[in-house]
Amino acid sequence: MTNDHFSMNILISEDNIRERVKELVEEIISDFVYNETTIVAALKGSFVFLADIIREFHRKGSELIVEFIDVSSYSGTTVSQGNPLIREFKRPSVCGRNVLLVDDILDTGHTLSKCKTILENEHPMVLKTCVFLVKDVKRLVDITPDYFGFTIEDKFVVGYGLDYDGKFRELPYIAEIEEISTSI
Ligand code: 5GP
Ligand code: MG
Repeated sequence: MTNDHFSMNILISEDNIRERVKELVEEIISDFVYNETTIVAALKGSFVFLADIIREFHRKGSELIVEFIDVSSYSGTTVSQGNPLIREFKRPSVCGRNVLLVDDILDTGHTLSKCKTILENEHPMVLKTCVFLVKDVKRLVDITPDYFGFTIEDKFVVGYGLDYDGKFRELPYIAEIEEISTSI
């Protein structure tokens, strides 16, 4: 599959994602036996995964509060910048709450770890982490998510909310992207 300047290699299909999201939410719910779960999603990449899991939580009868943290670590590159920038939206403290921190992908570990620290400092009752993808790389920060959808090799991927310079978030699958050299 090709785009004008990129070649796409689908790694995880739409059907596989749908099945895995169902299983994953079942797994989370069997641990989250509290009245109300607060999901805090790290923007922007997690928004499609978030939209799918929250509706799955609802189908299974769970009540949620959904909040956001805005993090940016890449800007038009395919290499993690290492020092994620956090812009906090005004949101209620998670003090005393049962919290699930959700992100799109775990790479170096900086982003998840920084977001986790922010929430930990607010003293939630429970704090667990969930990422859609885990990259099979040596982390720069030692963090293991409590829940994850899929493990992938160390490749730059797009789709299902993940972008390259704002593009490709709308793809319903996860694809590896490669820039096509146009020089002759
Ligand atoms: P980390 O801080 O763990 O290095 O990177 C996590 C963040 O970098 C993720 O929240 C995501 O926004 C971005 N990221 C890491 N790997 C990829 C990738 O393969 N594709 C895209 N589009 N974003 C990625
Ligand atoms: Mg992100």
